[in-house]
Amino acid sequence: KASIKLTSIVKPLNPYINVTNDVAGEQASSADERQQRNSLLGQLDGIPIAVKDNYCVKGKPTTCASRMLANFSPGYNATVYEKLRTQGVVLIGKTNLDEFAMGSGTVDSLYGPTKNLWGSEVLSQFYSYGSDDSQVTTRKLHEKDAWRIAGGSSGGSAVAVATGTCYAALGSDTGGSTRNPASYCGLVGLKPTYGLVSRYGLIPLLNSMDVPGILARTVDDAVLILNAIAGPDQADPTTVQREYVPINLSETIDISNLRIGIPKEYGVQGISEEIAECWEKVSCLLKEAGASVVPVSLPHTDYSIVCYSVLNRCDVASNLACYDGIEYGHRANEWSSAHKLYKKTRSEGFNNVVKGRILVGNYFLLAENYEKYYVKAMKMRRLIAQDFDVVWNSNVDLLLTPTTLTEAPRYDEFVQLDNQTQCLIQDHCTQPANMAGLPAINVPIKLSRNRLPLSLQLMAPLFHEQRLLTVAKWIE
Ligand code: GLN
Repeated sequence: KASIKLTSIVKPLNPYINVTNDVAGEQASSADERQQRNSLLGQLDGIPIAVKDNYCVKGKPTTCASRMLANFSPGYNATVYEKLRTQGVVLIGKTNLDEFAMGSGTVDSLYGPTKNLWGSEVLSQFYSYGSDDSQVTTRKLHEKDAWRIAGGSSGGSAVAVATGTCYAALGSDTGGSTRNPASYCGLVGLKPTYGLVSRYGLIPLLNSMDVPGILARTVDDAVLILNAIAGPDQADPTTVQREYVPINLSETIDISNLRIGIPKEYGVQGISEEIAECWEKVSCLLKEAGASVVPVSLPHTDYSIVCYSVLNRCDVASNLACYDGIEYGHRANEWSSAHKLYKKTRSEGFNNVVKGRILVGNYFLLAENYEKYYVKAMKMRRLIAQDFDVVWNSNVDLLLTPTTLTEAPRYDEFVQLDNQTQCLIQDHCTQPANMAGLPAINVPIKLSRNRLPLSLQLMAPLFHEQRLLTVAKWIE
C-alpha cells in the first residue's frame, strides 16, 4: 500500500502544496482490493504519482500556487490525470510551482519556494553517511540560505520524485518547465511533441506551446507514464487525431546508424566548464559507439527567448482575463462598482510577476502595437521552427545540447535576478523546442564537483519519441 504520510524529512523541501491523503487512501485500498481479487488493471495499478498543481483534479484544490485560485476546486479531471486514474494510480499530492507556471525556479509560489533535495541537509541525512566528502557537503550546506533551487516551474514535481515520495510526477512545459527542474534534480524530464498529449484540464499559460511533461527517475519509468497518457482527446482539438502507438524500448540499443547534431548556438557564454565537459564527453561516447556526431547551426536560436517573452505575455493577458472575481477564484471585498471589484480582486489575487506579464501583454496587444510585437514574434517563431527543419532535412536524427547552463544555482543568488532575467538564462536551451513543438528530454549525466546533478538534453523531430527515448536510454 502506498505510503501517504510524508516524512518530516521531506516536508521542509516543500514539494507539495496539498497532500491528497483521502484520495490516495481510497485509491490505495481499491488497488489492494483488486489485487486480492487478482484483477489488476495494468502496470500502473497502485503506483503513487504526484501532479503539478496546475492540473484540474475533481473536487481537490487546484491553486496554480496563486492566491487567485487558493480556494478553487474544479468540477472535472484533466484528461492526463483521468487516464492515469483509470489505470489505477494513487494520487499522492498536488505539487508546488511558480504562480501560474511563470518562472524557472519554483521560487515565486504563494506557498513559498521548493528546495532542491540535492545540496540540502536532507540529502546529506539521506545518502552521505560516512563518506569523507559528505562532511564537506554538509558543512557548506549549513551556510545560511546556501540551499539550491529545484528549478521550475515544475520544481515541486521534481522534488516529489527525487525524494522518492512518488514514482513519477506530471509537470508542464511551456519553455522548459519540466526539463529545467529535471536537470537540477537529476531526473529524466520529458517534454512530448505538442499535440501528442492532451492539455484538457491543464490551466493554460501559452496555449500553442504548453505540453504536459513527465518527471521520472529513469527513461523506462517515463515511457510507462507517457504510454498511459498520450493519444487523441476529443476534449482537446489540438491533440493529433491519430491512434497513439506505444513506445517500446528494447534492451539492446544500437545507435551506430544515427547522426547526432551539435548545434553551435547552444554553446553560449555562461555555460559552466563542467556542463561543457559533459557535452563533449557524451558526444565522444556516442561517436565511439558508431554514431556520427556533426556540428550543425540553428541560426535564430538567440531570438527564441525574446520572441517567447512577447508571445507568452500576449497569451497571459488573454488567458488570465477570466479571473475577475465573479465566476470563481478569489473575490475582493469591494462592492461599490463592478469595475472596482475586478480591479481589487486582480490586484490582490496575482503576484507581481503575473501582474507584470498581464500589463505588458495588454500593451503588446494594443491595436497600434499588435503588428510591431505579436505579429513580428510569430514570424520569428516560424524562422526558429524552420531552422530545425533544415537540420532534420540534412539527415540529422537528433540534437544533443545542454539543458541548463550550470548545476542548480543557490537560492540566494538566484533571487537577486528578476523573473525575466532568470528565464533568459534558464530557458536558453529548452525554449526553442517549445517554439517548434518538438519532443525533448533531459537526461541526467553525472554529479558535479559540488555533488549536484549535471544533465544534457536531446531533441528529436516531431513525433519521434521512440528515437528520442531510445537514445536517452542509451545515454542513461
Ligand atoms: N520560464 C518560462 C516562463 O516563465 C517557461 C515556464 C514554463 O515552461 N512553464 O514563462
